[in-house]
Amino acid sequence: MEQVKFLLDENEIPKAWYNIQADLPTPLDPPLNPATKEPIGPEALAPIFPMELIKQEVSQERWIPIPKEVRDVYRLWRPTPLYRARRLEKALKTPAKIYYKWEGVSPPGSHKPNTAVAQAYYNMKEGTQRMTTETGAGQWGSALAFATRLFELKCTVYMVKVSYEQKPYRRILMESWGAECIPSPSKRTDYGKTVLKDDPKCPGSLGIAISEAIEDAAKHEDTKYSLGSVLNHVLLHQTVVGLETKKQFKLAGDYPDVMFGCVGGGSNFSGAVFPFVADKLTGKKPELKVVACEPKACPTLTKGPYMYDFGDAARTTPLFMMHTLGHTFVPPPIHSGGLRYHGDAPLLCKLVKEKVIDAVAYHQNEVFKAALTFAGAEGIVVAPETAHCVKGTIDEALKCKETGEEKVIFFANSGHGHFDLGAYDTYHAKKLVDYEYPAKLVKKALEKVPKV
Ligand SMILES: *Cc1c(COP(=O)(O)O)cnc(C)c1O
Repeated sequence: MEQVKFLLDENEIPKAWYNIQADLPTPLDPPLNPATKEPIGPEALAPIFPMELIKQEVSQERWIPIPKEVRDVYRLWRPTPLYRARRLEKALKTPAKIYYKWEGVSPPGSHKPNTAVAQAYYNMKEGTQRMTTETGAGQWGSALAFATRLFELKCTVYMVKVSYEQKPYRRILMESWGAECIPSPSKRTDYGKTVLKDDPKCPGSLGIAISEAIEDAAKHEDTKYSLGSVLNHVLLHQTVVGLETKKQFKLAGDYPDVMFGCVGGGSNFSGAVFPFVADKLTGKKPELKVVACEPKACPTLTKGPYMYDFGDAARTTPLFMMHTLGHTFVPPPIHSGGLRYHGDAPLLCKLVKEKVIDAVAYHQNEVFKAALTFAGAEGIVVAPETAHCVKGTIDEALKCKETGEEKVIFFANSGHGHFDLGAYDTYHAKKLVDYEYPAKLVKKALEKVPKV
């Protein structure tokens, strides 16, 4: 029978992460201090991040060794399988070959522990006792709860209050791994208290939760903050995905022509494609096409201008050079909670700006339809986030059917949708709303972006 899974042995988990900063034609624009508009130094980040992660953030080294203790934890689910989606190919009657890398086999169910484990490890090494973070629907919070548990650190997760109340299952998962989960806005922080004073019924937002988690870390000597996407070191840790995929394509005797991934902050997509983008940047595979998939309701890469902006709504972060819809932009309530971010990772944005990477945007109904086609053929019910690149993949495969091209198509399958079945239920009931691009709201939000 024809092979469906391309598997690596445990000892083939990569021994170093790939740092694309080493291969960029021009360096990344540095993050700026919002008050002075001067580049920020490492000392500005030291109160909230461990030194090793700050070093990785600015490193120009091509390869950064993965500590043995981190690889030891990775072994619980890595290397993850690369699948050839033969049943999907048949269902679509396409001559294209479709592959996907499956990150849903991790204990929290997504790619996110690839960085959570590394971050918890460096914090443990440098004496941190407790880590704080924010979470929306709970994917990131549960990944950090899992990772901190394995390295015996305490974990405090500020969870957006509406999600805390409406989506209890990931909260229970976090608590099962021993994390403390607090609905945000809360009375734990000064910022939370101010918000509650103005609006006692405030449903919360990711921006508010970020501000609370940072304040908590900054005020406690033994506590550090952690971010699950966007930053350079997070994308770096996710390159284990793409490095494994490259070896697995060798086993399969193929190399992708087109690669798709979904983008919220950009970490799973970048992690999967950067080791291949390296071949494009160095001229080995100039024809490779790489496509980022995002929601039409929050079209950061396809509509957002490339400029300096804050990473959060409360203006606590430095200014980052990125495609942005404005830090005050609140996207419509689509079901892909993980893709509702106003900006994107600066590394990814630069490559999109320089046309090395393309971007497309989809409506949520067409995205869920594609996810069900995939589930019907391959069995996996993917996360609503992931469904965006399933849509991109299926469209490309159908184009190949028309032209007769036998393209090799890849997509990064970032996680399962078992905690998001409510969204599928809404789709089945035909109650899912497609939101048009909120041009007016974006225009208003862009007016609030600081001038640099
Ligand atoms: C969080 C999440 C995303 C979006 O985050 P990125 O940093 O863009 O990867 C995508 N897919 C899944 C399954 C997620 O949990």
